[in-house]
Amino acid sequence: MSGFPRELFIDGKFVTGAGKRTAQIDPATEETFCEVEAASAVDVDRAVSSAQRAFESTWRDRAPGKRADVLFKIAHSIRQHAEAIAQLESRNIGKPISDARDEVALGARIFEFYAGAVTKFGGQVIPVARGGLDFTLRQPMGVVAAIVPWNFPFPIGCWKAAPALAAGNCVVLKPAGQSPLSALMLGQVAAEAGLPPGVLQVVPGSGSEAGDTLVRHPLVRKISFTGSTEVGKRIMELAARDLKRVSLELGGKSPNIVFADADLELAAASSPMSVFANTGQDCCARSRVFVERSAFDRFVEKFIGATKDLRVGEPSNEATQLGPLVSAIQRNASEEFITESKRAGRRLALGGNRPQPRGYFLEPTVLLDVEPGDRVWREEVFGPVVCIRPFDNEEQMLREVNASPYGLSGSIWTNDLKRALRVARRVESGVLSINSHASVHVEAPFGGFKQSGLGRDLGMAALEGYTELKNVYIAD
Ligand code: NAP
Ligand code: MG
Repeated sequence: MSGFPRELFIDGKFVTGAGKRTAQIDPATEETFCEVEAASAVDVDRAVSSAQRAFESTWRDRAPGKRADVLFKIAHSIRQHAEAIAQLESRNIGKPISDARDEVALGARIFEFYAGAVTKFGGQVIPVARGGLDFTLRQPMGVVAAIVPWNFPFPIGCWKAAPALAAGNCVVLKPAGQSPLSALMLGQVAAEAGLPPGVLQVVPGSGSEAGDTLVRHPLVRKISFTGSTEVGKRIMELAARDLKRVSLELGGKSPNIVFADADLELAAASSPMSVFANTGQDCCARSRVFVERSAFDRFVEKFIGATKDLRVGEPSNEATQLGPLVSAIQRNASEEFITESKRAGRRLALGGNRPQPRGYFLEPTVLLDVEPGDRVWREEVFGPVVCIRPFDNEEQMLREVNASPYGLSGSIWTNDLKRALRVARRVESGVLSINSHASVHVEAPFGGFKQSGLGRDLGMAALEGYTELKNVYIAD
């Protein structure tokens, strides 16, 4: 793998940056396999200014159908380079290759969805009480900064860029320091597909310099961020200075609620991957499992059995379900939760060890007998660690579920329709699935309640979020 971009993508060209280059480490081998250029504050300013020029000179006024033509071509171009992007992503962050392939295909579908959607996305005619004609316009904002994390770099980059571009904005995409490669590939395929220079810029660089410059830049009209709650709060504070629009998709501590009347086989067989997929580095990870007491022992036994069957190993192996964590830091943080729990006398029912000496691997880990005050029960681990607790009473269980400051996702398992709907209404979270663990659908809104964020990605809601709503009245 030598032919992939490692420089900043500005104005349709790959260029060097004045920031400190980042070493890209293969988490499965711990070896550096390339270095990537980084944007300084000056580079970011150049990217934003050229995005603003592209906005004013070409993209803003291009007919939606013409924007759609280019977005369909980007989807096509992603599919043509799908294997190369997937291989690169897998190596860059240790993602199992089969997952990487699915995520690249998802990226292409996202471009197609918004290419199709933008031509059906219009305003309203409103009957105001004085004759004439009142109507609304959905107008692009200008330059949108998309700041994305390392856990799902390609699909998240696509699900911010595609609706923003479809709506007529220009985008400056800042990938995470640990995962810039697939974002640079997106820049390349977009250029190949005929996206005009400047409409999409990709600026790898540090959060503290490149990210911060984007957030403060006066020409940036909206910041669309996915990452930690801590950085999300900082971005919102800074954005308040000039009232930039923000959408924030942040951390989670999502519940998996299992009632005794559920299809326990199905619930237990599917639940391990609802928390361990992507080696637990998933904001939707169902890391707090609540099981009705009469089903608790049966569920735990089956859950552990299904977890033992998960294939942990080399990301390049087609059969691998769990690769390594992204970094030594990420693994150490997960291990600290496990050590702390063992020290407090909690029951380690499975895992907890490094399965092999090389690479940032960690076994899927199941903790029992944790207490509601435990850090591992309250905080996001972002690693392969789950806690399972019994509950006796629906009301108390819901209080505990909603005691979390987060509210991103969650699952409810029951065959009682009334209960499913009652509980779904009460759980404070932006996304829920009943008798399923699906969280992300291209067509449906995705985002959090409370400290899990603000605004929505995906679906028509994302398209709305990248526009300003204007009302126009014409006198009769
Ligand atoms: P993070 O620091 O929030 O990083 C997310 C993105 O924001 C990266 O591109 C990062 O750049 C950038 N960034 C960092 N500081 C910034 C700043 N001051 N201004 C503007 N941009 C900034 O997340 P992380 O450090 O990668 O992960 C930490 C924790 O966040 C995880 O353990 C997990 O709990 C949570 N997380 C959540 C999600 C999610 O999907 N909701 C995803 C990833 C992480 P750099 O990479 O260069 O720092
Ligand atoms: Mg960080």
